Amino acid sequence: MSARVITIHADAPSKPPTGQACNGCGVCCLAEPCPLGVLVSRRLSGPCAALRWDHAGRHYRCGLVSRDRPWWSALARRWIAAGRGCDSDAEVAAAA
Ligand code: SF4
Ligand code: SF4
Repeated sequence: MSARVITIHADAPSKPPTGQACNGCGVCCLAEPCPLGVLVSRRLSGPCAALRWDHAGRHYRCGLVSRDRPWWSALARRWIAAGRGCDSDAEVAAAA
C-alpha cells in the first residue's frame, strides 16, 4: 500500500468504511480522479479538477453532477458512488 498526502477541508466529514453510504468526504476524488475526472483534469493523480466544496452541505460534491448535464452526471455518478456505498478502500490518517 502506498502513502499519499492529500489536503482536505477541515470541515469535511470523516471517510466512512467501504460499503457504507457515500457522505461526500472527498477522499477518493482528492487522491486521484476517476476515469471521467482524468479527462477533465488531464492528469492521472492528485485532486480532480471537477471536485467542489459545498459550504452549505459541508461536504464535497462532483462538479459534473447536475441536472444541466445528465449525460456527464450519469458517468460521474457511476464512479463517485453517489447514492451508493463508498467504494474507496483508502485509509485516512492525519499528517504528523
Ligand atoms: S466514495 Fe469517495 S467521497 Fe464518497 S465516501 Fe467514499 S471516499 Fe468519500
Ligand atoms: S466523481 Fe467527479 S469529482 Fe470525483 S473524480 Fe470523478 S469527475 Fe472528479
